[in-house]
Amino acid sequence: MTEPRLIEITPATHGVDIDLVYATERNLTGKPIYKKAHCLLLEPAEAGLRKAVKIARDAGLTLRIFDAYRPPQAQQVLWDFLPDPTYVAELDRGSNHSRGTAIDLTLLDASGNELDMGTGFDAMTIESEHFHPGLSQHVQRNRLLLLGIMHAAGFTHIRNEWWHYELPGSRALPLIDNSESGPLRLM
Ligand SMILES: [Zn+2]
Repeated sequence: MTEPRLIEITPATHGVDIDLVYATERNLTGKPIYKKAHCLLLEPAEAGLRKAVKIARDAGLTLRIFDAYRPPQAQQVLWDFLPDPTYVAELDRGSNHSRGTAIDLTLLDASGNELDMGTGFDAMTIESEHFHPGLSQHVQRNRLLLLGIMHAAGFTHIRNEWWHYELPGSRALPLIDNSESGPLRLM
């Protein structure tokens, strides 16, 4: 079996903005759960991201990435903190972030400001749902913009989180164990 290949995403190589929230204390646990702020994706997801970057750029927008590959050990920390399968994938099922095919992100305008998506990243509330009826029209439009970009690039969305996109069929792929989370074995 060939080793799954994770590719590092950087602003210089991919033209994205990166704010890896789980490497900071600005996440739901209140402390860093990544040892290193490495933004990694499995090869086919990286190719999709490149498409998304171009589509967004042609519309005057930049992608800001909050999370990509997530080591299973970090998933365990999240589950221990919030054992709620609505928002955190159970350990036996595993997160598609741990398969390297999921990405959490938002859009920046030409001035580098985040588009108003109605809630912050990782807000564990009903308002984080796509198409939530209580949100203002400009929030709905901003979310649809991100949805259109990511779908055009080959990703699919999940119902509960406006910021989360993943490759279709991710569930069939193996979890990638990279306990170090840097320095990762980048082949
Ligand atoms: Zn996610």
